[in-house]
Amino acid sequence: MTAKTTKPKTLSPPKTAKAQCLCGAVTMEIDVPARWAFHDHGAAARVAHGAAYATYVGSWRKRFRILGGESCIAHFENEAAGITRHFCATCGTPLYYETTRSPHMVNIPRALFTSRTGREPRYHLRYAEMQDWTYTGETLSPLKGFPGVLFERPKKKKRALPEGMF
Ligand SMILES: [Zn+2]
Repeated sequence: MTAKTTKPKTLSPPKTAKAQCLCGAVTMEIDVPARWAFHDHGAAARVAHGAAYATYVGSWRKRFRILGGESCIAHFENEAAGITRHFCATCGTPLYYETTRSPHMVNIPRALFTSRTGREPRYHLRYAEMQDWTYTGETLSPLKGFPGVLFERPKKKKRALPEGMF
């Protein structure tokens, strides 16, 4: 007589989080929880992403794996800054970057993950470089006649003092 194995009654949460580029050629995963997550307001991240800022998940390199499409990965090395940025050569999606300063870490854009990574992005790097056109949660109103479009009311300008007042 053999002992029957019973399935666990509850599913354990996934131990990995998967990520992929826009065209789907490159797939990656990290073990969760990630080490940390952060927003980067610096110029390099802003331009590399073509966005106001980039949000990254930082993972230990040994907990990061490229699952597919490795031959599609191109990179740009900024030697002066000690940063190498990897991106999909087919669709251009930024995939991850690494620095010579922290060789045991890789940083992957949070937007590429299709599930939770075990860390909330609570840190802001290079905050002083944030642009004045970055949306920071101002009140929005619906735009009449354009469903799904919201707009931000212009900031009130300080009234100039009438000429000859003093
Ligand atoms: Zn791609």
